[in-house]
Amino acid sequence: MDLNIDTYITRTRQPGTGKLWVISGPSGVGKGTLVKAVLAQLEQVVLSVSMTTRSPRPGEVEGRNYFFRTREAFEALIQEDAFLEYAQYNGNYYGTPIHFVQEALTQGQDVILEIEVQGGAQVRAKMPEHARGIFVLPPSGAVLEERLRNRQTEDEAVIQQRLNRVQEELGYFSEYDYCLINDDLSLAVQQLKSIIQAERLKL
Ligand code: ADP
Ligand code: 5GP
Repeated sequence: MDLNIDTYITRTRQPGTGKLWVISGPSGVGKGTLVKAVLAQLEQVVLSVSMTTRSPRPGEVEGRNYFFRTREAFEALIQEDAFLEYAQYNGNYYGTPIHFVQEALTQGQDVILEIEVQGGAQVRAKMPEHARGIFVLPPSGAVLEERLRNRQTEDEAVIQQRLNRVQEELGYFSEYDYCLINDDLSLAVQQLKSIIQAERLKL
């Protein structure tokens, strides 16, 4: 008897069905840490390297952490429609180069965008069929502050600017599809992987 199962299996493997994972949350919550772990543990998922006008932190590498550009160069690229989304965050531009994202999605890869909330809204509006949002929360406000300070990458004024944005960022919370609380790191990594893997099995 031909049960025709193959037809259904084929339908689960359409090319070009990668998802665009928008990962947002307050500065210092652990987005970068979570994403790094997931990239090392999951196949077929890539990180979109953003462009920014902020200065590199010690140890940050051009093309790996960010593409570091002047304001003039960034604004020229805005005119050329080179960004899927871009926003200003504490006086600097940050944006997602569109070409890399399009290529990776076409190849069926999942793409992670570690971006702030205004950019997240632009991605949802432009690519609703691909975009899936994950908002990362800290276990408490005190822990968030502690992580931001202990990271020792910003001076006190910049830390305050970042904390001042938290309420505004939380205002976008309900626009996201999933929420993770990054308390125990290995649990949060496991949960992030589960979300991505479950979405791959969705019809
Ligand atoms: P973000 O990318 O959201 O700004 P980072 O990934 O740089 O945040 O993390 C901020 C700091 O918190 C880093 O020093 C990182 O090592 C630490 N951190 C991240 N996740 C956890 C966690 N679950 N428990 C304890 N410390 C963490
Ligand atoms: P940081 O300076 O800590 O690297 O990043 C500051 C904020 O900008 C973080 O919330 C980070 O997620 C966000 N960000 C990084 N790249 C992009 C981007 O390409 N677009 C947008 N909109 N935000 C970004």
